[in-house]
Amino acid sequence: MTLSYHPMKGSAVSRRLPDHRSGLVLETHELGRRAGVVKHVTRTADSPEGIGIAMIGVPPGSAIDLDLTLEAVVEGVLVTGTAEVSLGGQCARCLEPISDTAEVDLQELYLFPGKELDDDEASRIEEELIDLEPLLRDAVVLELPFTPLCRPDCAGLCPTCGANLNRDPGHGHAEATDARWAGLAAWQQD
Ligand SMILES: [Zn+2]
Ligand SMILES: [Zn+2]
Repeated sequence: MTLSYHPMKGSAVSRRLPDHRSGLVLETHELGRRAGVVKHVTRTADSPEGIGIAMIGVPPGSAIDLDLTLEAVVEGVLVTGTAEVSLGGQCARCLEPISDTAEVDLQELYLFPGKELDDDEASRIEEELIDLEPLLRDAVVLELPFTPLCRPDCAGLCPTCGANLNRDPGHGHAEATDARWAGLAAWQQD
């Protein structure tokens, strides 16, 4: 459980200040507060822990390629761009390891200190720094398949003995009934 990232000034809620050493933390100083000033950032950051869901996620320490535009607007800094991440996980059917990549779109307005929107959850610039981690976390999780598969037509495991049916397509058991195989075939088409 990470600390609550709640920006209420003067509240007792614990907050985590952006760590400027993280590759996911962006410096906004040179943008100033002049609307229209634009800065491009391309960099590779190390993935923090815990981005993902149980079956699949971004391996901690793996490279995240960021390609971002920061634009100063009246209320804050608008960040748009993409992050390319590695994915590691396990096939939900055959349990074999999966490795893949994903490109996620990022877009978020980070408010300047003192700017208020109606949205309590609005992201903020703190000490001239933007912490992309919460945005990245949400964007990656939205992109992940609920049921990750090693390939779309993964045959899964034999329900009788657990053999991997991808490696052994002709696999069968003498006592298997037609009904069982019909059921399996229907399941595979999902
Ligand atoms: Zn599989
Ligand atoms: Zn079997």
